[in-house]
Amino acid sequence: MNRVYNFSAGPSMLPEAVLRKAAAEIMDFNGSGMSVMEMSHRTKAFDAIINSTEEKLRKLMCIPDNYTVLFLQGGASSQFAMVPLNLMTKNGKADYIVTGQFSGKAFKEAKKYGAVRLAGSSEDKNFTYIPAQSELDLDPEADYVHICLNNTIYGSKWNYIPDTGNVPLVADLSSCILSEPFDVTKFGVIYAGAQKNMAPAGVTVVIIRNDLIGDPQACTPTMFNYGEMAKAASMYNTPPCWCIYMLGLVCEYLEEIGGVDAIAQINRRKAAMLYDFIDSSSLFSNPVRPDCRSIMNATFVTGNTELDDRFCKEAGAAGFVSIKGHRSVGGMRASIYNAMPVEGVEKLIEFMKEFEKNNK
Ligand SMILES: *Cc1c(COP(=O)(O)O)cnc(C)c1O
Repeated sequence: MNRVYNFSAGPSMLPEAVLRKAAAEIMDFNGSGMSVMEMSHRTKAFDAIINSTEEKLRKLMCIPDNYTVLFLQGGASSQFAMVPLNLMTKNGKADYIVTGQFSGKAFKEAKKYGAVRLAGSSEDKNFTYIPAQSELDLDPEADYVHICLNNTIYGSKWNYIPDTGNVPLVADLSSCILSEPFDVTKFGVIYAGAQKNMAPAGVTVVIIRNDLIGDPQACTPTMFNYGEMAKAASMYNTPPCWCIYMLGLVCEYLEEIGGVDAIAQINRRKAAMLYDFIDSSSLFSNPVRPDCRSIMNATFVTGNTELDDRFCKEAGAAGFVSIKGHRSVGGMRASIYNAMPVEGVEKLIEFMKEFEKNNK
């Protein structure tokens, strides 16, 4: 068996210990004589799985009792519609801050459902920074403010949580959930697709403050109604059973290694090593303002697209796969999520040094 260092932005690496546990349980989960993939979601055995997954996630993220956790489908992209359908119902307007491609998509989608306003943007500098609090133009009458906390494609992140006063803050945490501690009480809604830091693609986690549930727009499809999903404990229809089980294993693994604080220290170390090297390199550079750099997705370029292509090709052949930047921005991107070991980043840096030497 030959495992590679997988720098994919998503679906991405899972911890090896989790894959081994899943493999060991694949023919016979806990004496049931079947895999979780084959199990009815209306069984005691699956109830125990979904309940313990939620319990572990609540503990890891310190989710207070006045928040509901939902396990949905449709990816983070479905939340781009589900959020306005359920929340843009009091004054019929919302503020969006666009700091990259996914927040831009969320902004565009929300326009279908109400009066959506751009309350801040970093497009003027090609999304290489996050606007400061003083640069935000927030409407106190908005039903919510939407942000994307970590910009997966541009490799930037919010280094502060904006103060939105009494207006609920809604945040897309797809590419940074569980990477470092976040104060859940600062948010009205947190959502995240699983395939970056949590589980295989297929489950979308929504963490929503209870007072924000239950007043959707009349046209809201049942499957997009937070209230219906909460009432049915995420089992209005068949939930993504296998992914929920895998998320439980990932949470268990994080708990074992010391929780979110412990993984955050490792993540910051990995990111610092990589950015330190890039900043000292005469070949590679990173365009993001240093105080806004993502610790999950590090982008870099050589400044020469042919050389970028050669780098990606040679890196792939050497076992550093999926390091090509997003098709919309080019260059390179190393996604170094929770499951990427420190060693993977060290080896990548060695490879980059060697490449630099050979391409002077
Ligand atoms: C990957 C990603 C998405 C899209 O997620 P899907 O599950 O594919 O819909 C949205 N937002 C962010 C920040 C992402 O990283």
